[in-house]
This record gives sequence, C-alpha cells and structure tokens, in this order.
Amino acid sequence: MKIRFLGACQEVGRSAFAVSVGGKYLVLDYGVMVNHHVGFPMHIPPKEVEAIVLTHAHLDHVGSAPIFYIHGGVPLYGVQPTFTLTSLIIKDFLKLSGYYAPYEFMDLQTMLKHTRELQYHQSIDVGDASLTLVNAGHIPGSAQAIINSEGKRLLYTGDFNRQPTRLVDGADPGNYKDLDAIIIEGTYATEDHPVRDGLEKEFVEKVTEVVEGGGTVLVPAFGVGRSQELLSVLSAYHFEHPVFVDGMALDAMEMLLKYPSSLRDSSVFERASKMAHWVDGWNDRRRAAKTAGVIISPAGMLKGGASVFYMENVAAKKQNAVFMVSFQVPGSPGRILLERKKFVIHGKARPVDARVERFDFSSHGGRRELELTLSDLDKKTKVFIVHGAEGNCKKLAEWASKEQGLDAKAPKTGDIIEI
Ligand SMILES: [Zn+2]
Ligand SMILES: [Zn+2]
Repeated sequence: MKIRFLGACQEVGRSAFAVSVGGKYLVLDYGVMVNHHVGFPMHIPPKEVEAIVLTHAHLDHVGSAPIFYIHGGVPLYGVQPTFTLTSLIIKDFLKLSGYYAPYEFMDLQTMLKHTRELQYHQSIDVGDASLTLVNAGHIPGSAQAIINSEGKRLLYTGDFNRQPTRLVDGADPGNYKDLDAIIIEGTYATEDHPVRDGLEKEFVEKVTEVVEGGGTVLVPAFGVGRSQELLSVLSAYHFEHPVFVDGMALDAMEMLLKYPSSLRDSSVFERASKMAHWVDGWNDRRRAAKTAGVIISPAGMLKGGASVFYMENVAAKKQNAVFMVSFQVPGSPGRILLERKKFVIHGKARPVDARVERFDFSSHGGRRELELTLSDLDKKTKVFIVHGAEGNCKKLAEWASKEQGLDAKAPKTGDIIEI
C-alpha cells in the first residue's frame, strides 16, 4: 500500500493524503490552509483518483475538494451532516476568498451531486479496497477512515477526540488494533486539556458573574462546531440570561437540527437552539452589543465576521468581557488580544478594558489522549503523525519511538511511503 502525503505535514491546514487502492488512489480529505495565507495541497491528477473521503466539515479538510469536480467527478464519501455543512462553509469561503480559489461555485454544485452518504461502521468497496468510517468524536458527522487495501489495513484519524463533548460522543476507542499503519493528528501533542466538567462550570460561573454585573460577554467562536458546543454548555447549565448567536453559527445550527442522530443529546441541543436569540441584521447586532448577556459570533480568531463589530463595541468597557474559546494561531488578532490585551483593527492596536480570558474547549484530543492512542497500537503499526504545529509532530513521533518502541515519523509534504 502506497501513501502519498499531500499536505498537513508538520503544519495545521490543507489536510490531504492519498492511499493506493489497486490502480488508482483514494483521497482522504483535500483541504485548504487558511491561517496566514490561502494555500492548497499538492496536486494529484484527477484521472488517478478512484474516490474521495471527507472526514469532517472543516475548511482545512474539505476546502479544496471541488477541484476534482471541474471536469467530471468521482464518488465522494462521508457521514452526514458532513456534506450539508461542507456546502455551507465552502460557499462562505468562496464569498470571502473566492479570488484565491482554484474552482468556482459551479464545481461545488457538481461535487454535491457525487456525494455518497455512509453510516458509521458501514463498509463499502472502493477500487480493490474496502472503506469503513467510524466516529471521530470531533464535530457532528466527523469520521475516522479505515482502509483495507493490498493486504494492509490503515486508519486515518482525521481530527479526533476520545472525550465526549456536549455536542458529540467521544471517538470509539476500539479501532486501534490490528493496524499496519495509522495516520494520526498531533494538534495538541504537547498540551493537556483541562477536565471538561470543571472547565464548563468555570465558564458558566464567569459568564454569569459578568452578565449579572450588567456586562456583555463576547465569545468569538468558529461557526461550525464550537459555537453550538458553547450554546449547549449554557443550555445544559440552564443559563437564564440572553444569549445571542450570530453569523454562520445559525445556519449550521439549523442544519444540525435536521440530523439529531449525529448529536450526543439532541434534546439538549434543541433546548439550546430555542434559548438563542438569532441575530438578524445590524439593528439586532447593535441591540446585542448593548445587552447584559452573551454573544457567540464568528470569527473564532477575531479575523473578520461580526465579532469585529462586537469587539469595537464591547472591548472598551470594564464591565464587559471577551472569552476566547478557540485555538489562536500566532499573530492572529485573537492571539494578540490574549498576549497583549490589545485589539488590532485597521492596522492599529487599541487598548482593551474588558476582561479577557481563555477557556480551552478543544474538540481535539490532548497530549494524554494522543499518547493513550499510540500505546493502544500493536507494535507492528507504522505511525505517521500529521496536522500539528512545527515541532509538535516530531516530538510526538519521538515519544512514540522511545516510549512505545513504534516505528513513528512526522512525514514531509510530498513524501510517498510504501507500507
Ligand atoms: Zn476539524
Ligand atoms: Zn483539522
């Protein structure tokens, strides 16, 4: 079995891998890099592609997939609501960055005609291989892919989380045996996450404190996954003050309500959707910014979207707060806010008087879970660590070699490895 590493090697973004399935390749994710600039995975000729798997609806995993549908197309596999959410985020990407995209809206539409919905644990034939998707515990519809091809068995984790969150059940731990190879994410290779229960309690207590003091809490959060997770946390704790939800988070929420089986507890989620004030237009936005309550709004790193408007209105007052809940790329406005308590807008750094705090609501496994997964593997399993910031993939590979005696490496983009 040949594996081609087309992106997400010693970096987070543009996830893309290809696995030989007889004469052609099965492509596992084909994302974009959206952190500092827009970047794409390495090219693979469409005529060499048998089919494509989308592990979940985040841009760094799906943003380049329509490229394969410019001329014709191949089957596109995934677990719903992955396709529905993918359509939403790619449309948004085209609106914001269409100038950089190597495909058009029409190609997205063609792609959506080639979708083949799978259920978790359902196996299908792809070329001479078989493909099975199992729960990844990352966002609704997220999957890990198991491929049996050319006498070898490979698992690709995509983004995964073994701990349950409010939104989804944790990844099933029973899939890491009898593998010849694993491609595993290493986003948090060097960082443990706090215990979930304590974190949720602390978040709700601090939000309540600010709101009862007459303040507004801005929670910048990515539209698909994190926004709905936080709303569900507030709903689970029966938070009684106004909660405004803005931007793409709303569309994503409407879509998720149509796929209750993709959620851990659809009744908590339904209650959450009912407690939310859905922001519609600028009048609503201005009202939300003046209300003692919570505003959940994209973008998670304060790089654009309605959260920039809210920052301008919330940041200057002491009684308000900005609670950061997403991963902040170095150099992003969100990271600068956390490090220097300044908000950069139109190239100027403005002081922030509102309280600023970070809450680690990750939907990726932390160091402990990644190490646990690696220690679950049989010693024959070859390990490829991807989807991690510089240094992180290598560190985790070193740990796996030294502590577990595994053949582990952090591949480079462009590597072709035979297992
Ligand atoms: Zn993801
Ligand atoms: Zn990712």
